Amino acid sequence: ADPRPVNRTAITTCGYCGVGCTLRVHARDGSVAAITPVHGAPVNRGHACVKGRFAHAFSRSRDRLTTPLVRDGGRDSPLRPASWQEALTVAATRLATIRDRHGPDAIGMISSARATNEENYLAQKFARAVLGTNNIDNCSRLCHAPSAVGLTAAFGYAGGTNSVDDLDHTDCILIAGANPTEAHPVIGARIKQLVLRGARLIVIDPRRIDLAEMADVHIQARPGSNVAVFNGIARVLLDQGYADEEFLHTRASGLDELTTLLADYPPDHAARLAGVAPETLVAAARLYGTAHRPAIVYGLGITEHAHGTDGVRTLSNLAILKGAVGTPGCCGVLSMRGQNNVQGASDMGALPDMLPGYQHVSDPDVRARFNRAWQAEVPARPGLRILDMFASAIAGRVRAMYVIGEDIAQTDPDSGNVRRALAACDLVINHDLFLSTTAEHADVVFPAVPFLEKDGTFVNFDRRIQRVRPALDPPGQARSDFDILHLLARAMGAELGCPTPDGAMAECAALTPTFAGISHARLDRDGPLHWPCRSTNQPGEGRLYLDSFATPDGRAALAARPYLPPGEQPDTSFPYVLITGRRLAHYNSGSMSRRTPNQQLHPHEVLDLHPDDAARLGLTDGDLVEVSSRRATVTFPVHLTDSIAPGEMFTAFNFPDTPTNALTSDATDTETGCPEYKITAVSLNPV
Ligand code: SF4
Repeated sequence: ADPRPVNRTAITTCGYCGVGCTLRVHARDGSVAAITPVHGAPVNRGHACVKGRFAHAFSRSRDRLTTPLVRDGGRDSPLRPASWQEALTVAATRLATIRDRHGPDAIGMISSARATNEENYLAQKFARAVLGTNNIDNCSRLCHAPSAVGLTAAFGYAGGTNSVDDLDHTDCILIAGANPTEAHPVIGARIKQLVLRGARLIVIDPRRIDLAEMADVHIQARPGSNVAVFNGIARVLLDQGYADEEFLHTRASGLDELTTLLADYPPDHAARLAGVAPETLVAAARLYGTAHRPAIVYGLGITEHAHGTDGVRTLSNLAILKGAVGTPGCCGVLSMRGQNNVQGASDMGALPDMLPGYQHVSDPDVRARFNRAWQAEVPARPGLRILDMFASAIAGRVRAMYVIGEDIAQTDPDSGNVRRALAACDLVINHDLFLSTTAEHADVVFPAVPFLEKDGTFVNFDRRIQRVRPALDPPGQARSDFDILHLLARAMGAELGCPTPDGAMAECAALTPTFAGISHARLDRDGPLHWPCRSTNQPGEGRLYLDSFATPDGRAALAARPYLPPGEQPDTSFPYVLITGRRLAHYNSGSMSRRTPNQQLHPHEVLDLHPDDAARLGLTDGDLVEVSSRRATVTFPVHLTDSIAPGEMFTAFNFPDTPTNALTSDATDTETGCPEYKITAVSLNPV
């Protein structure tokens, strides 16, 4: 280790996953010297994973963008460095021209889970107050939109019901569609500790994930069968007297409809739909039903389905039936958000139908409040969701895309379609750290900065608002998304107000009852706060709904949702199911983690394949195989593992040269438009 002293430190929040670990960044001579977890920090309690702790070299990677880039002609002409003034003028002039000629709804904006709350607040304000459109969305559309809608309908708020601290008291954890060991490692480690201390563990996942090895019951369900599994468990809870009758009759609604539906879900039928033994399903129900303080932890394996919202609702049913939510000592339902600030991006109103705090744009009183504060006219009609923006661009209705800090051409499903949408636009503006796949399609690229160079806040997966503080200065002329939005608004002849991040949070708090008690000064003084936090003397609510649920009738809403088949089914031409997900060493597009020593841990993409399938195809470990879906063909080296079931395979999407999302399905959740990343019908051909 370099013995020279560091000359700058900052306590901040990890910019990788939604756990939101508190980290101390030690900087020397303008670079990160080390990152250490903060002892006693509320979420991570002195721990950090291989990403948060070691994957920081990207911040001084030589290919960081340090000047704006523009093109002199069409997309065939190369991007070249430009001054800020030139790039802002090009972007502002062309945006204004498109808005004036084709109307504000001809522009689509995508904000970022990598951006701070204050930046997301400013992005949606830019869309609504400067451009005049509700066409603003963020990547939660592609991951946890079903959580926002499902949890709101079931309980009242668009977030998990409890603080992660409540896991300390659980005696049974049901993990569904989440692999915390790789995707949220600090929580994965905490769950292991809880199990070693005696908590029972139920894992519901099509893969034999790491935690399944120590589970009491593993339901290795067929991909897409979540609703059948949860309905089957619900039926057992009711039939075998595990339900909390008093809770159901005093604090829940919808029991009659659910009971009627569950007549069709005896365990043997539900188990058949899921491809598992009925005894396994009954054993899981018994464990959950007999626990005193059961907890539910779920992830994208529930939401990223054609019926993802149904998955969230039917999983929430289990906590309601058991009376394990909104009661003293309960552990509730925790949704494991993927990216660091995917909760906050939605909380701040980077959504086509919601202003900050999930206040609906169609509510005239809400709009009037924002209009007065912003001196603007927020449109009443909801805007386009991300995938609808792409369809509208291809149809010629959306003429400009403004993408902040997301590599949509690599990470969004059916990426060939995304590229067609970008190609169809007259103007693409992008903020990023690097020349990403999306930036390569852009007309103007603004050099942005990562969390290590930012001031603001993130919201982690348990609704905890935490400070982000800069440890480094930006290289060259790179600037924060916050500054870029201000500069672009000014170049368009508008002012966004709130010139500093703490001012933006103050403005958001003044307009948003659920954040009314939040300020940077308070976070700096008192530490993280959960939302809702309705006043400056309220502590914030980690465990929600102890008095009443925030639904219209104050009751937790049971949902009667039938099992429906996935959007895409295997057939004779595409007989296998491809599942996509996360790997420990990398994160999402990999743009940050690939530029760190983590790259050596996982240097390229692989396809996890069961040995039986490999033997049938004559493949051995490391052989190349062409994977074809109804949209594209991509070549992978195979990695043989029996953690995946025969007929299924698994991979991630961290490498642009292995474009997994060229394959993925265009099916979406019927309620939220969330893509079905978890099920793509594919064929395999050895190369
Ligand atoms: Fe960062 Fe998540 Fe790892 Fe914590 S668990 S250090 S938040 S990547």
